[in-house]
Order: sequence, then structure tokens, then C-alpha cells
Amino acid sequence: LEESQVEYLRQTVTSAVDGSRFYRAKLSQAGLSPDAIRELSDVSLLPFTDKSELRASQEQAPPFGEHQVASFDDIVRLQATSGTSGSPFLLPYTREDLWSSYELGARCMWCAGARPQDLVLECLGYSLYVGGMTDHLCFEHAGCCVLPYGPGQTDRLIATMRQLVRPMLLYSTPAYPQRLAEVAAAAGIDPRDLNLTKAILSGEGGLTAAGYRETIEDTWGCTARGVYGTAELGCIAAECDAVDGMHLLTAGHVLVELVDPVSGTSIPMTQGAVGELVLTTLRRTAAMYIRYRTHDIAEVVSSDRCACTRGGPRIQIRGRSDDMFIVRGVNVYPMAVLDVISRFRPDVNGEFQIRLHQPPPMEVPPSIIVEAVTLAGSTALADAIRAELKTVLNLTADVEVQPVGALPRPEGKTPRVVKSYPEETE
Ligand SMILES: [Zn+2]
Repeated sequence: LEESQVEYLRQTVTSAVDGSRFYRAKLSQAGLSPDAIRELSDVSLLPFTDKSELRASQEQAPPFGEHQVASFDDIVRLQATSGTSGSPFLLPYTREDLWSSYELGARCMWCAGARPQDLVLECLGYSLYVGGMTDHLCFEHAGCCVLPYGPGQTDRLIATMRQLVRPMLLYSTPAYPQRLAEVAAAAGIDPRDLNLTKAILSGEGGLTAAGYRETIEDTWGCTARGVYGTAELGCIAAECDAVDGMHLLTAGHVLVELVDPVSGTSIPMTQGAVGELVLTTLRRTAAMYIRYRTHDIAEVVSSDRCACTRGGPRIQIRGRSDDMFIVRGVNVYPMAVLDVISRFRPDVNGEFQIRLHQPPPMEVPPSIIVEAVTLAGSTALADAIRAELKTVLNLTADVEVQPVGALPRPEGKTPRVVKSYPEETE
């Protein structure tokens, strides 16, 4: 396998250099040619690619950018990332690209429990967003029967589920099963009577926070498993029934590296290692991704053989590198803070906010506000959380316990890190 992967890597770099001005310029700047790739670890010689560069390249050379390699005649689908700002980032696919993403996606869905006898309710958005149509076709590739439902219209989904009778698999965001249960309960229907036996959840972290998965599984009487992917590359990792981290299921299609998000230095994928996931496609042809920075921070939770017999490292997503902050030389991720706080359920409800009092380099400990279900014994609770943060994350912080509802609940993404110092403007 290693030998064929080296061959695919060399081919990818060769086609990128031959076919795109973007990669030709990057490699010549780095003083490299495709011949420099002799073994798999040589991938670390290649320069990183960041989405901001690809976005700029699309703006300069519309529609697909100077990193486009295949001719338009060979491109059979166009999708896009939702894009928090500005115009969507376009993702062209050739037939080979689609086959590669279905293959990876099907491996992930299978690992997470999908089987041909499952009727899949696909509840992600069918639009430019890849989570809808592309993931739908990954389930079909795995042999499942898929109902293209999309988000919203929850009342009608419940009526449809009652009509379908047979065991069903829900594919949605992690938050949706609870929303669906609330709507069912409001209509006087016990979710457990709806025959949902499996849930595969994608799109955001949180499933691993203490109590979250258990609540979904208890409410529905189903299994709940997470998959991880990026809009650009599709699904690449999934939990199995051992529920001990996500298996990277990329062999032959994508190379996965872990790097220090600040220095870019490679980090070996051994147990306990934490770093940013960097991905290189081996089988993409419309536009390849070479050492693509995901900005997602992963921890290797185990590198032992899993109970399900799969080998290789298993990862857990810990947050975004953009959310990382450094206190007294220790890298801290908000999701890791949430994991520690969640250990104190049911005394806490999982709502929290980190307040930074100083620009980096930070010596003053941040304040962490935690909502507690009852304020009785709040001093002892604050002390216990402070001690646990120190033990688990080596983080020194002031912990303040406040009543439920003290923190804001915005409609969109909840800000977990707030800067309480004036930021320098450029
Ligand atoms: Zn496993």
C-alpha cells in the first residue's frame, strides 16, 4: 500500500505542477520538483496550502482559480462551501473525484454503522453544500436506501417516519435528534416508537462532550456515532461501535498529517499527540489539495488496534486552531475546556465562556465563567473545576460559577472566547 501511495502522491504533485500556475509557483518558490518525493514522509517537504490562498486564486482567475487542473469538459459537478464571509468557495469535481469521495464516505458511514438494510433519512442541506447530495451518494455507495429529506419540515418528517415503519438511520447535525424528539413529544409521540435505530451525526463537534451522546441514545433507543470530514475533501474519519475515537479511513485516497498549528512542524501521530490536521489528496484531479490546512485540531486518543479490529491512529476533534489561545506557554482549546467542565454534570449544564484579559503572550490567567444548576456549594464547585483544569490541561484559570442563564445565548455560533482587552487595529 505504501508504495502505491507514494506513486499516487508523486502523480498528484506532477499533475498539479504541470496543470496549474498556482502549484507551479508554490513548488518553484520552495525549490522543489515532483522528483523530490521518494517516500511517503517526503510529503512534509511540500509547502502548505491554505484556503485563503485558494480563495484569492479563485478571485483572480474565476470561476475555479489558478489551482484548477482538469479541463471544464471533465468537470461534472460543482459544489461550494457555505463561506462565512464573501462569496462561496467553489469545489469542482471530475468523475474520478466523485468516485474517490464516495469511496471514502462509504467507508466512514459503514464504520459508523450504516448497512444495506438501513433506510437513511438524510437531513443535511441539499444545496451547494456537500453534506447533502455528496453524503447522500456516499450512503448509496455503501448500499443503503436513502431518503433525500434535507433540513427543516420536522413535523412532516415525523409523519414520514410513522409511514415508513422499518428500522431507520438518521443522518443529521448532532443537535437535530433532540429537536426531532421535542417535536415528536409535542405531538404526543414517544420517540422510541418511531423505529430510529441508528444516528450518524456530522457537521460539528460536541458529540463527545459528557452526556451528549447518552442523551440522544436514551431518548431514541438508538446508537449515535460521529463522522468527521471537511467540505473540500468530504468524510475522512468515523467512530465505530467501540466508540473510542474516530478511525482515519483515508488509505489510498488522502494522506493525513498532524502539525503544530503555530510553527507548522510535523507531529508524529502517537497517543496523546495534539495538532492541526493537514490533508493531501492522492486521487483528486479537478483541483488537488496539497498539504491543505484544515484548521481543525485533533488529538490522537489511541494508536492501539481497536476492538473492531481496525488498526491505525484514532482521533478526536478538539476545536479550531483559530480558537486556540496560549496561557503561560500552554496551548488551550475551548473544546478541551468544555470536556473538563462536562465532567461536573449534572452540577453544571455545559454553558461556559472564557475571558482573556491580556493580549498574547499571556501571563494573567483567563477567567472561565461556568453556569451551575444550583449555586449551593458553588465555591467548592469552582475550586474543583479549577483543580481539574490544572490537572488535565495544565491550565491556570480563575473559575467563576454563575446561575443558569447568566451567559448569552445567541442565535448563531456561541462565542466561547471573549477578549476583555482592547485589540490593536491595523
Ligand atoms: Zn474501531
